[in-house]
Amino acid sequence: MHKDVRKEILKGLKRIVIKVGSSIITKREKRNNEWANELNANNVRLLARIIRQFVDRNCEVVLVSSGAIMAGRERLDLHRTDLSIPEKQACAAIGQSYLMHTYEKKFKKEGIKVAQILLGHDDLRNRKRFLNAKHTLEALLEHKVIPIINENDSVTIDEIKIGDNDTLSATVACLLNAQLLIILSDVDGLFSRDPSSKMREGDTSMKIIEHVDCITQKIEKLAGGSKSKVTVGGMHTKILAAKQTMSFGIPTLIVNGFDKSIAEKIYKGKSVGTLFWGGREKIKKRKHWIAHTLKPSGAITIDSGAEKAILSRGKSLLPAGVIKVEGKFEFGNAVRILGENGKEIARGLVNYNFRDLDSIMGMRTTAVKKIFKDNFYNEVIHRDDLTLL
Ligand code: GLU
Repeated sequence: MHKDVRKEILKGLKRIVIKVGSSIITKREKRNNEWANELNANNVRLLARIIRQFVDRNCEVVLVSSGAIMAGRERLDLHRTDLSIPEKQACAAIGQSYLMHTYEKKFKKEGIKVAQILLGHDDLRNRKRFLNAKHTLEALLEHKVIPIINENDSVTIDEIKIGDNDTLSATVACLLNAQLLIILSDVDGLFSRDPSSKMREGDTSMKIIEHVDCITQKIEKLAGGSKSKVTVGGMHTKILAAKQTMSFGIPTLIVNGFDKSIAEKIYKGKSVGTLFWGGREKIKKRKHWIAHTLKPSGAITIDSGAEKAILSRGKSLLPAGVIKVEGKFEFGNAVRILGENGKEIARGLVNYNFRDLDSIMGMRTTAVKKIFKDNFYNEVIHRDDLTLL
């Protein structure tokens, strides 16, 4: 059954996003009693070969690559673990051009042209910039150029960072309506047990989970935290990335990026890695953008009546249902909507700023109308601007 699912996905494969982590394109060596990572040009070449195989099957490929900070560290011979944020940003600035130079050289050997795109959260949460990025990427693909995307680390500070490239790759897959996100990892997929946990002798219970059709708490637990010294996210952020693409109707496949014949195995429909795929139901693009791309600027707690109206009756959020306002959001910002128990139930774009909402919360619509006259909105968040989580 799982094989059929994989074959079905392959049938429509026209555009894929491949995410490669630093650990795939890095060599780890001990120098002067200190562990040092350096860019592994041979692995970049291997990656070029893998990508060539997708391109040869008429598939457009967008690459999301980490490695800038690691490559910058190598250039500066700076391998201590306690780098400050400006130091990391300096490393990213140095390493990004070195990384791209290596990509340029190695991909050229496979006849592939590359282009660099650096994105930040601001580029994705503003609808206009989001569309600009999309158009540029589409134009590159049309000219048979492989866009290589990384987060714009050298100019974004931690609070406004996307954070990790797993999340970035999921956002890019959704932005471009790709049919598949492939995460090339340094492990074979998601294990049925945390592989770093101690195993008793003779225990054969640990195996790769072939297919996840719904990301449950149990699956999230299996992902654990980040253990690698080189990469940022570990399996946890990969699961979050898969969750994001699945909610947009895009499958995510986590496979071992050191496997030379991975493209072939994928095309043969072999059960490699872990496939995250729940079916074809898509949520509307705009709703996805609200829920996953925008960074919430605040939170609104609502009473149980409003919660019911939103969750079960598909209603908008009205001022009467609001019981608490947190954060300094302005008109049009994304906010989190919390139930009385503090649990997030939805996200939406708000029609009132935090000051106004604070003064009208709990009020009936007629009373609000009297205060705001021409600037009056019936809804705090209209249904169309609301995404249930
Ligand atoms: N953008 C970072 C870099 O290029 C890596 C982030 C990640 O690995 O998720 O070094």
